[in-house]
Amino acid sequence: MEKKLISIKKHTVYIALGSNIGDKSKNLSSAIEEIKTLIGEVTEVSSFFENEPQGFESDNIFVNACLICKTHLNPLATLKELKNIEKKMGRKKTNEVYKDRIIDLDIIFFDKLIYKSEKLTIPHKEYKNRSFVLIPLKELSPFLEK
Ligand code: ADP
Ligand code: MG
Repeated sequence: MEKKLISIKKHTVYIALGSNIGDKSKNLSSAIEEIKTLIGEVTEVSSFFENEPQGFESDNIFVNACLICKTHLNPLATLKELKNIEKKMGRKKTNEVYKDRIIDLDIIFFDKLIYKSEKLTIPHKEYKNRSFVLIPLKELSPFLEK
């Protein structure tokens, strides 16, 4: 008789990072350390890229990157931890979505999941329109379309 094994497989989550205030590269590095502690093992990190702000006017250039993390957390718990990290690093909550920020952490992919709720959309609903996500993402997934 076949025995059903309990899956202990970790989820693979692609996270996009961005910062356009302060020591931006240092902010990304600090966020990566927090992700390792609070979410799971970080197996790959892209290069850090400079990008002009997209979607709003600002003189502050962004530094962006993407990473792959292995986690036991579910998607909403992952989002919660990302928001905790943003808060801990001093990101101010604002009603204006597109603004200068110390750190922005977005879930791009979560395994092969397609998910939509008020709080969370996976894959991230804007990633295909954002070159600052696509460029670092392509380093991690060279076969990605577009
Ligand atoms: P943006 O990242 O688009 O610049 P925010 O960081 O202010 O904007 O995020 C706005 C809201 O988007 C968050 O409060 C979060 O609940 C929601 N959201 C929806 N899908 C995602 C996702 N895949 N990753 C991160 N946040 C998401
Ligand atoms: Mg965000």
